[in-house]
Amino acid sequence: QAKLEGRNRFRFFSSDIDSSIRHRHFLEQQMRSALEDGIFEVFYQPKVDSKSASIVGMEALVRWRDANGCLISPMDFIPLAEETGLIIPIGKFVLQKACHDTQELIKEGRQLVVSVNISTVQFLHESFLQMVNNTLLESGLRPEFLELEITEGVLAKDISHTQHILSSLRERGIRIAIDDFGTGYSNLAYLKRFPIDVLKIDKSFVHEMLFNKSDIAIIEAIINLAQALDLELVAEGVETQEQANSLRSLNCQILQGYLFSRPLPFIEFRDLLWETTTSIEAPGKHSRYWR
Ligand code: C2E
Ligand code: MG
Ligand code: MG
Ligand code: MG
Repeated sequence: QAKLEGRNRFRFFSSDIDSSIRHRHFLEQQMRSALEDGIFEVFYQPKVDSKSASIVGMEALVRWRDANGCLISPMDFIPLAEETGLIIPIGKFVLQKACHDTQELIKEGRQLVVSVNISTVQFLHESFLQMVNNTLLESGLRPEFLELEITEGVLAKDISHTQHILSSLRERGIRIAIDDFGTGYSNLAYLKRFPIDVLKIDKSFVHEMLFNKSDIAIIEAIINLAQALDLELVAEGVETQEQANSLRSLNCQILQGYLFSRPLPFIEFRDLLWETTTSIEAPGKHSRYWR
């Protein structure tokens, strides 16, 4: 009886795997044709100075709209793109678009730094440095306006290779940010070994910070660490005015999150830039940020 049940369960499970393989295969095909048809998009989410409320930069986030016009989350397709190698052309597209759009803004007099997410697979790929250099040359964007976001996982992979890549980027003048800081790697020694400019506090800490003593303690520790090591600090996932006030009073310089704006198509992001510079409201104790 037990054996039979086991076999049944196995059969059930295996057809489950079949359908998930079929689904992944389907997604992979869709991703390939989306690339060919040029239907990936890049959205931008502002990064805001916590004291002045002015926009100091933006994060580029890839978007994929399916045939029905629905956005598919990068969380759902980036892992498959990494496994299939499609992350290389997708990542190149995002970097090209981000550099090009940022150079447009700079021509209009907006000196903004663009942050681009780099997957570990992409970072460790042999063509990475060359691709970044070519993209900067083609777009005309100066390297100091480009920031690359990597995760702690990269730093644990191939230390001497990673060191070489990071130093080359730093020599070019490109900035390096550690994304989702606090969720990955526990050995903080890498912070002195690698040339890093920015820590981005993971949004999971920000979401609970007003209700959870451990989260506020972790945030305070990260802020102290960033100050001691002279790193810029960004808090991501800021959704409420209370979180923003609290982060500001802890001296977190830069905030990013739905409170200010969702990620927007380039045209809308540019409109937002114009709106907010013509009517900037100083973020006093009781005043809201813009939006
Ligand atoms: P991430 O780099 O940590 O990006 C922040 C994510 O948080 C984005 O999700 C953003 O839309 C979302 N977010 C921003 N503000 C808030 C907020 O106030 N509350 C909440 N709950 N979420 C907020 P998104 O765009 O879905 O991207 C998810 C992840 O996918 C990114 O996390 C990044 O790891 C990856 N990703 C996105 N675009 C790219 C890309 O072009 N290349 C690579 N390699 N990865 C990307
Ligand atoms: Mg990021
Ligand atoms: Mg993040
Ligand atoms: Mg991330």
